[in-house]
Amino acid sequence: METRLESAANNLRIVLVGTQHPGNIGSAARAMKTMGLSRLVLVAPEKAPDRDTHAMAAGADDLVETAPVFATLAEAVADCRWVLGATARNRRIQLEPLHPRDAAQRAVAATTSGPVALVFGRERTGLTNEELQLCHAAVHIPSDPAFSSLNLAAAVQVLSYELRCSLLGDAVAEASAAVRTAPPVEGVASHAELEGFFAQLGEALEQIDFHKGRAPESAMRKLRRLYLRANLDSADVRLLRGVLADTQRMARLAGQAGSAT
Ligand code: SAH
Repeated sequence: METRLESAANNLRIVLVGTQHPGNIGSAARAMKTMGLSRLVLVAPEKAPDRDTHAMAAGADDLVETAPVFATLAEAVADCRWVLGATARNRRIQLEPLHPRDAAQRAVAATTSGPVALVFGRERTGLTNEELQLCHAAVHIPSDPAFSSLNLAAAVQVLSYELRCSLLGDAVAEASAAVRTAPPVEGVASHAELEGFFAQLGEALEQIDFHKGRAPESAMRKLRRLYLRANLDSADVRLLRGVLADTQRMARLAGQAGSAT
C-alpha cells in the first residue's frame, strides 16, 4: 500500500516553463530525484530534451522520459489543487511571496486534496505576469537582492529539499535530535579507558584532599554519572587524564614542599 509520504510525493509536480537549456531539464530531474520527487512536467520547452539533458540527469533520465509536455501552463496545472510559482524577483502586481519553508509546508498539506504544482520560469526571463497570475501563491528563495537569481536547477534543488523536509516532518526532527545526542560513531572511549580515567580521578582527588575525611563513594558516583553523560571519546579521555596528571604532579610538589618546611 502507498504510504502517506509516497502519496504526498506523487502529488507534488515540478513544472518547468519554457526551459531554454536542455541541460537544465536534466539537472532539475536529478535535483528532484535526490529528494524523492518524480513528477516532472514540461511546458513548451524551447528545445526538446537532448544529449545534454541526459548527461546532466545522471541517472534521473526516467523522470525526463516520463515527463508530459504541455503547450501552456494552464493545461499543465489544470487538475492541480494548489499552484505555487517560484520567482527570483518581487513584482509589484504579485502576491507577497512565501518563504520556502512555509510554502513547502502548505504544499505538502495541500497534497491531501490532490495534485500540487511548483512552477519554475525561463532561465532568462522567468515566468510572465500572465503565468504568475495562474499561481495561487509565489515562493521566493531569500537570495542576495543584489544577485537574486539562482540557476534554474539550483532553485529546483532548494525547493525540492524543503518539500522533502516537510514530507519527512517529524522524522527529520527526531533524526536530527538523535544525531545531536548520539555518541560520536568513531573513537567512543572504551569501557577500559573510562575505568582507567575514573581510577586516576579517584587517586587525584585523594591527593588533593578533596574528600576531607568524607567517604569518597558519593562524590565518585556523581562524577562518574557526569562524565558518562558527556559521551567521551578516546581523545577526551586522554585530555582529561593529562589534566589529572598535572594536578597530581602539582599535589606531589606541594606535598614535598610541605614536608621540607
Ligand atoms: N532572470 C530571471 C531568472 C530566472 S531563473 C528572472 O529574473 O525571473 C529561472 C527560474 O528559477 C525562475 O523563473 C524561478 O522559477 C527560479 N528561481 C531562480 N531564483 C530564484 C529565487 N531566488 N527564488 C525562487 N525561485 C527562483
